[in-house]
Amino acid sequence: MSTTGILTERHDSIGHGHGSIRCDTDSVSGAVSQRACVYCGARVVLNPITDAFHIVHGPIGCASYTWDIRGSLTSGSDLYRNSFSTDLSERDIVFGGAEKLTRAIDEVCEKHHPKLIFIYSTCIVGVIGDDVDAVCREAEKKHGIRCISVKSPGFSGNKSYGYKMASEAILELIRPHSGKPKMRGVNILGDFNLAGEMWIIQNYLRILGIPVVSKITGDATYDSLIQAPSATLNLVQCAGSMTCLANQMEEEFGIPFIKVSFFGREDTTTSLLRVAEALGDEAAIAKARAFCEAQEAELIEFENLYRPNLSGKKAAIYVGGGFKAISLIRQFNTMGIETVVVGTQTGKPEDYEVIGQLVRKDCIILDDANPAELETFMKEKGANILVGGVKERPLAYKLGIAFCDHNHERKHALAGYEGVRNFTQEINSSINSPVWNYMEVEL
Ligand code: SF4
Repeated sequence: MSTTGILTERHDSIGHGHGSIRCDTDSVSGAVSQRACVYCGARVVLNPITDAFHIVHGPIGCASYTWDIRGSLTSGSDLYRNSFSTDLSERDIVFGGAEKLTRAIDEVCEKHHPKLIFIYSTCIVGVIGDDVDAVCREAEKKHGIRCISVKSPGFSGNKSYGYKMASEAILELIRPHSGKPKMRGVNILGDFNLAGEMWIIQNYLRILGIPVVSKITGDATYDSLIQAPSATLNLVQCAGSMTCLANQMEEEFGIPFIKVSFFGREDTTTSLLRVAEALGDEAAIAKARAFCEAQEAELIEFENLYRPNLSGKKAAIYVGGGFKAISLIRQFNTMGIETVVVGTQTGKPEDYEVIGQLVRKDCIILDDANPAELETFMKEKGANILVGGVKERPLAYKLGIAFCDHNHERKHALAGYEGVRNFTQEINSSINSPVWNYMEVEL
């Protein structure tokens, strides 16, 4: 199919600033989408739980999506860095894989004595219909542990559905621990501690005098997660993955939530002030004002050093959720960089509405794009840099333009005020690298 054909057929999920586009739907069957599958969505959310065992019930290929490409950090256990799979083969597919799964759980329990195991059902398990719930119930009785089924066959929806399945798994885990007295403090939902970002946010809250009850799920442990129903407020950092869990926790445990973003200078300041205000804590509000003012002053000075190098450059953004795209556009605006293409895998209509207001009218806005669309629009709009994840990196390099990893592989933190410094330096060194002068690609 020609590139033009692809664009024409999918025109309703491509728009311009100030227009509306179709989003939050399943990918077109057979299309090569940049979007990850249901299982991957579920794994994004649950994998950072550091002392849990994650057993992938399916062929070995699905298990390749593991810690190695989702580098969340831990302050304790590193069990989550291992990959466990039932490695289903032809025989299991014909006769069923439930027995093999039981044996895998027994082996893990015998060797490692875990408190918590997640079992991910992948495509083939959805097809052969193993009763994973029954296996989990039996394992819980036999071993006296929590063994939670995550229904995530890749074909059962899109990445957002995987987030929902992970949220249900978390609820199943924490529900029996609700009803305890409330504690003064917040849960952080939707930060996965990439390059230690959860620790940055936690430190800011410590400076403001706000305790963190539970981290969902960056650097989380079984014992800390089950405290979550006792918190006073939920902070939702990754709205795309965690809004359904936050809604459910509000309904079941009476915990209100606010959406925050610690990416970019403006959003970090706004979020810290909103957290303090939402708690109605006058002392925290005063501390937040003083802290943010001091941080902003230093950071603006730092940004001014780089402005001459960056002003007038053009950026393309393709990330997982809408909240991150919005923060990135705002940060680029403060750096004097224009966003000319922006897209997400799981953005919601309200995200695209905000995006439309932040960009110029001729900015290309994409939902669930494929590689051909991204390449076409980056070339058409003359982007100097692409901000994306592991699947977007080769597209940028193929076109001979700079790239910034804002996904799970990155090794330096991009959250908070520290993150803005790292981000500015990375954008500067990548966009202004002399290597681009030697490229022979015709843009
Ligand atoms: S689409 Fe299916 S087979 Fe592929 S990784 Fe996802 S669950 Fe596994």
